[in-house]
Amino acid sequence: MPRRKSIASRLFLWLFLTGLAALAAGGAVLYLEVRSLVLSSLDHTLESDLEIFSGLLHEEDGELEFEYEEVTSGNFNLPRSGHYYEIVVEGELFASSPSLAGERLDLSSAHLEKEGETGERILTARGAAGEPIRVVERAGIFAGRATTIVVAHSLEESLEVLRRFRNFLLALGPAGILLVALVGLLISRRSLRPLELFSETVRRTTERTLDQRMETDNEYREFAALAASFNAMLDRLQSSFQAQEELLSDVSHELKTPLSVIRSHCDVYLQKARGAEEYVEALEAIRESADQMALKIRRLLGAAQTEADLAGTETLRAVSLNDCLRKARLLVEPLARDRKVSLSEEIAPDLIVLGREERLTEAFANLMENAVKYNVEEGKVEIAADRREGQVRVRIEDTGCGIAPEEIPRIFERFYRGDKSREKEGAGLGLGIVKAIIELHGGTIEVESRPGRGSSFTITLPSPPPVV
Ligand code: ADP
Repeated sequence: MPRRKSIASRLFLWLFLTGLAALAAGGAVLYLEVRSLVLSSLDHTLESDLEIFSGLLHEEDGELEFEYEEVTSGNFNLPRSGHYYEIVVEGELFASSPSLAGERLDLSSAHLEKEGETGERILTARGAAGEPIRVVERAGIFAGRATTIVVAHSLEESLEVLRRFRNFLLALGPAGILLVALVGLLISRRSLRPLELFSETVRRTTERTLDQRMETDNEYREFAALAASFNAMLDRLQSSFQAQEELLSDVSHELKTPLSVIRSHCDVYLQKARGAEEYVEALEAIRESADQMALKIRRLLGAAQTEADLAGTETLRAVSLNDCLRKARLLVEPLARDRKVSLSEEIAPDLIVLGREERLTEAFANLMENAVKYNVEEGKVEIAADRREGQVRVRIEDTGCGIAPEEIPRIFERFYRGDKSREKEGAGLGLGIVKAIIELHGGTIEVESRPGRGSSFTITLPSPPPVV
């Protein structure tokens, strides 16, 4: 048996992968957000230092002076402390922090991060001790001279905070993955639970529980629709079973009459010796009853046979519809003569359809037989056939009792017999079979009827017919 795919594992896999992607994206966004917070707080410190330094720079007697002693923060005094400043006036170093220990800040390989609103630039570079530094640089004219103030802070502390935060996020990773897997498992299980319940109900359904219906107010729309379709299928099955049961009781009822006739004749004529003539009479009555039974049984077997044939995969051939109609008419002519019903026809020549000749003949014979059977004495049956817009249309019209409007939707149901038809011979199988045959040939059948005036059955078959 081929290995079957599982919806549950597919669902789980998709949920798991989506969950993982969401987790990774969420982690990355959080990390970047914290990083930008840490760096912008450092930038603020740098900018406020820059403001202090530019405040300490002033002009006295045309000379620039930097009040170094005002710088209280010890960090700028400790060598290679990671806190540096430089003031360059007209290309010459004017002042620098003792922490630089006489060296210059090397900004040749600095990387520009962003430009501030008041013209300062924020860069990252390497400090005096080779440590990563964040630098703020402002160039301007001070006391008529081109002056650049540079303040730098080591990034080591900030990077350490970020490194710890990243490790914390990574440590949370396995727990997150586990959580995503658990949630995925739970969702996939819960979503498919109604399917399991559904399959359980289907498994428990037998011909004895056909009257039970599935709950359709499921919280999931899809399952509610599935349950509704299943219930509709049960409706169809139930009515089909019911119809068959009814047929069985009809059949046994109908066979009982000829059987009891045979039985009573036997009883009566066995009571005492009788003359030859009387025996002939009795045997004729018995034969008539036996014929009736044979006919009913033949009809039933015929219906079963037709069904089996229709289910077969026999290929369809080009068939002359004129031949089918002629043969069908020959079959019903004896009955028409008996009932004094006249048959007339108006059939266009060379009507071809793709199909099975015997089956089509059977369908037309059934319709013609009904037209005669449900006709009035000396009534008429008209058979017409022609080709229109790539279709062949056959119409069989009678002047019989007609069909009540409320009966029309039911007459094609198998085993259905109209109330008024009980006294006529039949098993209620004819029109059901006719419809099945016509539909198998890609056609349709419609009926129009006026009670007391007559009925007209119209069959439409494709021509040129489809290749089936
Ligand atoms: P049956 O003729 O064996 O009863 P059918 O399936 O051929 O079964 O027809 C079903 C019912 O449709 C009949 O019992 C009858 O009531 C009605 N019917 C069919 N054809 C006609 C017709 N031409 N005129 C009036 N009623 C008809």
